[in-house]
Amino acid sequence: MSYSSDPASSRGRRHAEAPAPTRTAFQRDRDRIVHSTAFRRLVYKTQVFLNHEGDLFRTRMTHSLEVAQLGRSIARALRLNEDLVEAIALAHDLGHTPFGHAGQDALNACMAAYGGFEHNLQSLRVVDSLEERYPEFDGLNLSYETREGILKHCSRANAQKLESREPEGVGLRFLDLSQPSLEAQLCNLADEIAYNAHDIDDGVRSGLITVDQLSSMALFRGYREEVLAEYPDLQGRRVLYEVIRRLLSAQVYDVIRNTQAALDLARPQTSDDVRRMPALVRFGDQMREQSTELKRFLMQNLYRHPQVTRTTGQAQQVIRDLFDAYSADEALMPEGFAGRADRQRAVADYIAGMTDRFAAREHERLTGQRLLEPATE
Ligand code: MG
Repeated sequence: MSYSSDPASSRGRRHAEAPAPTRTAFQRDRDRIVHSTAFRRLVYKTQVFLNHEGDLFRTRMTHSLEVAQLGRSIARALRLNEDLVEAIALAHDLGHTPFGHAGQDALNACMAAYGGFEHNLQSLRVVDSLEERYPEFDGLNLSYETREGILKHCSRANAQKLESREPEGVGLRFLDLSQPSLEAQLCNLADEIAYNAHDIDDGVRSGLITVDQLSSMALFRGYREEVLAEYPDLQGRRVLYEVIRRLLSAQVYDVIRNTQAALDLARPQTSDDVRRMPALVRFGDQMREQSTELKRFLMQNLYRHPQVTRTTGQAQQVIRDLFDAYSADEALMPEGFAGRADRQRAVADYIAGMTDRFAAREHERLTGQRLLEPATE
């Protein structure tokens, strides 16, 4: 027996299907995600910088690929199921609205009286019902374990709703406060490692933060000094890349070391033992602190930079105007969204699925106002 998730003993799919002849359940999940419409749209969705602000910044697609890469490396070292990690990582951001967190906050505010909007729950809605690819069911009909990992946070109220529709399903752990699989725990941490590193890179590239500012943090300063001592003539971006590379490696090795130690101590025998234990995939105390310091730095200096928040206000207005327009006249939405019993949820689903530029263009079409410059083709 092993503490890793075994596709042969998966809790299964919501609609029974014959197994694939050559692929495990988790490999098949990953393949379904890669071929989905929502996955392709991640190319045109903002991570931090709006999609049209530059071709070199991360999008949700490249972010998801980086999370999958980091997750797989760590999973291999810890002998977890790499395919499950990859499937969860590639799907974890499928439910994000256009315009990053600004879009999500605006849509959540629009939906306040109708159950709110949570992007993790929306990622689950995408794979459970919104994708339309198969003759026999809505959604991608993924395995329980992949769905469990995709729903990384969930409010109690929404967990109760999920639980009433799917007893002892993916909502239960937010009610009984148990843990998900090690693979799901790992994806959360790989997500954090990925965005801390790439937001430093994109932040410096954009000119909004500087290497000197970053050096106020002990973790960054230490690696910068180390790199310059080893390569005194190294300059410009290569210094930054080498510092980021060491930062990434240090975090990856830290997770591997500390998680292995936690596993050796807790000795889970099965993947279900893991669910009843405290979270086992973890940083050591010092790295936990340093990663939190990094997050705080990026929050203060990048995510709340006036140049980032300036477009935030416009992005939120686009979402609000779209929401009002579709709510007032559902015929403005395509078939499949118009005519649904829960109109507000249909509007939220439609808006959440949009790419940045589609939302900006649709806003211009409906209001005649150009708020965000759509990418030229
Ligand atoms: Mg993410």
